[in-house]
Amino acid sequence: MPKKNDSFEDLKKVIEESKSILVLGHKSPDGDAVGSALAMYLALLQLSKEVDVMLIDYSEMFKFLPGASKIKETSNKEYDLVIALDCASLDRVEQSDDFFSKAKHTINIDHHPTNEGFAEYNYVDRGGPATCQALYKFFLEEGIIIDKKIGECLIAGIITDTNGFRNNTTNSITFDIASHLYKLGVNISKTYINALATRTKSQFALTNLATSRLEFFYDDKVSFTYITLKDEKKVNAKTGDHEGIVDVGRTVEGVDVSVFLHEDKDGFKVSLRSNTKYDVSKVAVKFGGGGHKQAAGCLISKPLEEAKKILLKEIKELLWTEY
Ligand code: 5GP
Ligand code: MN
Repeated sequence: MPKKNDSFEDLKKVIEESKSILVLGHKSPDGDAVGSALAMYLALLQLSKEVDVMLIDYSEMFKFLPGASKIKETSNKEYDLVIALDCASLDRVEQSDDFFSKAKHTINIDHHPTNEGFAEYNYVDRGGPATCQALYKFFLEEGIIIDKKIGECLIAGIITDTNGFRNNTTNSITFDIASHLYKLGVNISKTYINALATRTKSQFALTNLATSRLEFFYDDKVSFTYITLKDEKKVNAKTGDHEGIVDVGRTVEGVDVSVFLHEDKDGFKVSLRSNTKYDVSKVAVKFGGGGHKQAAGCLISKPLEEAKKILLKEIKELLWTEY
């Protein structure tokens, strides 16, 4: 059973009482992890805290965000408080053994439906569109002034996690936030283009390769494609260059579920997207992963053909049982 959210008063108190604070995102940070970590970093500076922000191996696409130059990859400090953002579970927290588990106090702020409340203090907007949207509410409750820089980080996370307001987790509050941030002077269209609608040259090359391999299954309701380490080497790909490829199959008429496999050192990282009612997190969970109804992922440490076979079997089951 997930833990109930702690009160904003409790969260405020532990932040007030902590002098040194570390902000962490999840492993392989995406736009919501980077945006929420930087927004929290800037907010804690506003409260005159001794604060570090740590993210490892995030996409260069997010380096335009305010505060990104301050992101650390390591630290030898011990912290009074460690805040984990956008992490569904403890094993998703970056370097949790070195920092999270050693901190005097811990906070978890997130939006994954499966988050069980792994920290001492928890605030989870379960099933909400983005951690950045949860943080917006948190900042208002905590009396943090949302300025243009914090706003830019928040909207970047909201735009990337909702896939440009396309996911059905997008709600009226999302647009209220966008409207408020627009009035503050945040350039929403520029942030949208920078965070979601710009591709590096190697990302473009990888996308072309994956597009040429796109296959369709089950009455063309499911699209499938993949990228290997060899492909990445060929186009000199950098961290995050596979982002967005899963959306290619998703834009094809009639596709309900899009599947994208991306090879890394541990096997194939699976990205699943649903356009309709099918809850792809059910498939991800079967392979030890998780996520949301319309966007989920897992790792399958098997050769490509085998991974493809077992995944497609589970997806077929999903289409059948939820028909
Ligand atoms: P992506 O396909 O963009 O890597 O991930 C989509 C969603 O699935 C994200 O919200 C992320 O939290 C979740 N996700 C991806 N990989 C994993 C995983 O290995 N474990 C868990 N629990 N969630 C994952
Ligand atoms: Mn997120």
